Amino acid sequence: MSKILVTKPFQAPFEEITAEMQRAWDAEWLTNNGPLLKEFEAGLNEYLGTRECAVVSNGTVAIQVAMQALEVSGEVITTPFSYVATTSTIVWERCTPVFVDVDPKTFNIDPAQIEAAITPKTTAILATHVFGVPCDVDAIQTIADAHGLKVIYDAAHCFGTEINGESVLNYGDISTLSLHATKLMHSVEGGAIFVNDASTKVEEFGNQVSPLRYRVNRLRNFGHCGPEFFDGVGINAKNSEMHAAIGLVNLRYADEIMADRARQHKVYNEALAALELVMPEVPNNVRWNKSYYPVVFRDETEALYVKDGLEDLGILARRYFHPALNTLPYIDQPGHTPNAAHISTSILCLPLYFGLENETVARIGAEVARLCNECRS
Ligand SMILES: *Cc1c(COP(=O)(O)O)cnc(C)c1O
Repeated sequence: MSKILVTKPFQAPFEEITAEMQRAWDAEWLTNNGPLLKEFEAGLNEYLGTRECAVVSNGTVAIQVAMQALEVSGEVITTPFSYVATTSTIVWERCTPVFVDVDPKTFNIDPAQIEAAITPKTTAILATHVFGVPCDVDAIQTIADAHGLKVIYDAAHCFGTEINGESVLNYGDISTLSLHATKLMHSVEGGAIFVNDASTKVEEFGNQVSPLRYRVNRLRNFGHCGPEFFDGVGINAKNSEMHAAIGLVNLRYADEIMADRARQHKVYNEALAALELVMPEVPNNVRWNKSYYPVVFRDETEALYVKDGLEDLGILARRYFHPALNTLPYIDQPGHTPNAAHISTSILCLPLYFGLENETVARIGAEVARLCNECRS
């Protein structure tokens, strides 16, 4: 039997993809902020109910550009429980990550511990809404306002998650999304920068944009503000018309993709109920996109027993996210983060992707239960 992977990219009917790509081909406009890219940005804003978004080449460069746009320097308060890109980007930008432990309920940075980590060098908080479950955004904003800090959310997992009926991407100064093939919504490679800047708009080539959006646009395109004029240093963070074409098609399936994830969650929930595994707690006012199926076992021994047992059956669960990021070899100051240490060593994400059948999900669930009970007895 073929292996069951932890995730699999959503693949729309190929004719739909080629039809969209044909438009770019016929227009002979393949990249550089083309019409399909602009449509994709408008489509994202419309579907998500967000304000301004700039599509970029991936979710990592989105964080880099966000840090540059907000002129983040010195120390950045961040979470040890996320994908490596959250921390590596801080280091890449020559800033120092300062780790604050996570809340054992949400697996996200614990706002109650942020203030103690602030020093005169702190300029920003970079938090992840891990697995698409929102951080305590109000508490974080209150602290940021009190100390004059910028807030960036690594919202890589957050397509479709809402707080009080509003996209979680509308929080922070900037929220960044990943549109990588393995994410719930994707353009094969891609990312998006969601800008929340209510200040007076400025003109950009005849359009009205916020000053922050203007800066992001300069940064993603070499600093160009005209063929021969440059406004500051920039990088190439653009995305192509081909990627936008795939993104536009995938957007049509967004409702279906999320409903499909919810269907699988139900089956897993039933199969695993008796084990009392810990899952992130989703507040009542949140609509979770159910992007992943993370479960925390009693300890690392139990998690690895289940992982190895599943692997023997060709079922590949993954240790998302292990190791904790403050244990990376290039980190000098790990801080004290026992909750993140426990979660990152004892967690597994179970297979969850578009089209995974109920039968298979139930079978994986049953195997997890069997292995877990075997390990406990
Ligand atoms: C996937 C991911 C990223 C990186 O996104 P890419 O598009 O792969 O560069 C960043 N942060 C988190 C939490 C992620 O899961």
